Amino acid sequence: MTDALFASDLDRTLIYSAGALALDCPDAEAPRLLGVETYRGAPLSYVTEAAAGHLASLAASGGFVPVTTRTREQFARVRLPGPAPRYAVCANGGHLLVDGESDPVWHAAVRGRLGDCAPLAEVRSRMLRDAGPDWLLKERTAEDLFAYLVVDRARLPAGWLDAFAGWAGPRGWGVSMQGRKVYAVPSVLTKEAAVAEVVRRSGATLLHAAGDSLLDAGMLAAADTGWRPGHGELADTGWRLPHIEALPERGVRAGERIAAAAHEALRGGGGARMSAGAASPLPAGGEAAPGSTPW
Ligand SMILES: [Mg+2]
Repeated sequence: MTDALFASDLDRTLIYSAGALALDCPDAEAPRLLGVETYRGAPLSYVTEAAAGHLASLAASGGFVPVTTRTREQFARVRLPGPAPRYAVCANGGHLLVDGESDPVWHAAVRGRLGDCAPLAEVRSRMLRDAGPDWLLKERTAEDLFAYLVVDRARLPAGWLDAFAGWAGPRGWGVSMQGRKVYAVPSVLTKEAAVAEVVRRSGATLLHAAGDSLLDAGMLAAADTGWRPGHGELADTGWRLPHIEALPERGVRAGERIAAAAHEALRGGGGARMSAGAASPLPAGGEAAPGSTPW
């Protein structure tokens, strides 16, 4: 039992692929890295050695909640230091893992809400219809909940994302670009709703959060304090909230800074609780704070 939780996105917030490390120092001064994900026998994601130490302490505290858009299978590949967390959120809130198992009651509630949005098949086919063969590399659906494309970002036409988002929005879907992936996610499928459920179940009274993308914005807005790296969708769009620290660090060093700050916050009791209600609305698809969610 812990009074404070640290709910954090994983990819490009705590863990980094080789292409996202953003190490701009001389090679001889680069930090040692720990591989935390293997894919088809090869290393895929890393944290710095220092970050690994902080993450191990966070996990040991019992207050760390990984919150990811990854599917459960993709999440299972991530092997963070320290004991496995009691709670984890996968599929952007579609699955709430409790001791590694998806909570069926939670998942059924999520499925029940999806009726308010256009069907996945419709959104997927529109996404594929609009995609160009010269820049579309792969397309996938995840957990039968949402869809994403892997694209050649340099060839993605300017305005394509906004145009697709403009089509998807009125149908109850949000669009987010992260690295080489374009996600289309039902607007009722949110990280913040699942995190609110973890807060409720754990009895925590203080929530720290970290994230880099629009899919993290609601979770950050609902937190008492938090951190945002100097790279990513939120940084690129100038997204800010008074209670979320916009860090200057980019890449894997931002991950280290976030892990260190969260470790300090949980160790030190986390400081004074702030009112998430004072936060300004989200710039895109801004939902109310998750305290008001009917889930
Ligand atoms: Mg991320």
